[in-house]
Amino acid sequence: MKPEYDIIIIGGGPAGMAAAQYGARANLRTLVIEELAPGGAMLLISDMENYPGFPEAVKGYEFTEKMHLQAENFGAEFKIASAESISQKEDIFTVHTSEGPISSWTVILATGAKHKTLDIPGEEEFMGRGVSYCATCDGPFFKGKKILVVGGGDAACDEASYLANLSPNVILIHRRDRFRAQKVLAERVHGNPHIEVRLNHTLEEIKGENKVGRVVLKRTDTGECYEEDMDAVFIFIGAIPQTQLVPFLQKDEAGYVVTNQDMESVQAGLYIVGDVRSTPFRQVVTACGEGAVAAHKAAGHIDDIKGETYPGLKQQ
Ligand code: NAP
Repeated sequence: MKPEYDIIIIGGGPAGMAAAQYGARANLRTLVIEELAPGGAMLLISDMENYPGFPEAVKGYEFTEKMHLQAENFGAEFKIASAESISQKEDIFTVHTSEGPISSWTVILATGAKHKTLDIPGEEEFMGRGVSYCATCDGPFFKGKKILVVGGGDAACDEASYLANLSPNVILIHRRDRFRAQKVLAERVHGNPHIEVRLNHTLEEIKGENKVGRVVLKRTDTGECYEEDMDAVFIFIGAIPQTQLVPFLQKDEAGYVVTNQDMESVQAGLYIVGDVRSTPFRQVVTACGEGAVAAHKAAGHIDDIKGETYPGLKQQ
């Protein structure tokens, strides 16, 4: 039996779209399954200034549109559906989706990661009313307002810098005495006159009437708590990898899926790319590279199944 596709890619972020482009360009029947719209976490990037070839920063959504178009131009198909599980019988995978089952020789998992929450009083209550996890989406609502940013990684530093273009009154708190973020991003927030950095601080509670009005902050070195007026709270404390479709694969201690350097999981024909994969460095550029490698390896795997790579050897 011949499956409907050569490659099914689950997730339409940069890793998934790069895999789609490379797969389709190699003349493989390639389908991308995406729950919402293509782009993934890239849609949340305001100005991407570190993708090679773009000396002027490029907007995340513009880059997304170009990647999507490029993959489609090579023949990749995109389907809006929710992937619910993956099964395999002999050489053929079936991805069970909200729109029915779809079969393929290979699957590339590019499901990314979702933002973490602090789980403190007021966070859920004021979500969308001053509490946000996306500066590009919600920052413009708080122009000139007093904004608290929580986190110490690349995302918190990047987004604090973005918000500092909208307001001169941004406070960035981090629970430790030094940032986890890349040095260049940490130095940028330290040097920004619109950002007040408060290390050794945690956010304990968010208060207000109908919207965010005050926060309770705690100094982790002294244990002292104090209240302060605040208009908005942006939380960037990392992400939870979306691994629900592969409960059978090995994860690292943070929950990301382990692969070899060729993006191969232990299940032949199943590849893992982008923010869901265990890797020390997660960037759009690395995600794209991983997608390209996975599509290339998938092509080789399909050739092996069909006996097209070394037909002589296959027959022996
Ligand atoms: P991250 O690197 O995991 O950093 C999460 C930060 O949040 C850490 O500083 C952590 O503190 C803090 N944190 C975690 N849980 C917390 C809690 N319960 N309370 C208070 N603070 C908490 O996550 P990220 O910044 O979202 O970045 C995710 C990935 O995307 C990274 O690989 C990053 O390099 C990449 N990224 C890159 C860029 C860029 O290159 N421009 C931009 C955005 C994201 P500790 O340090 O104490 O653990």
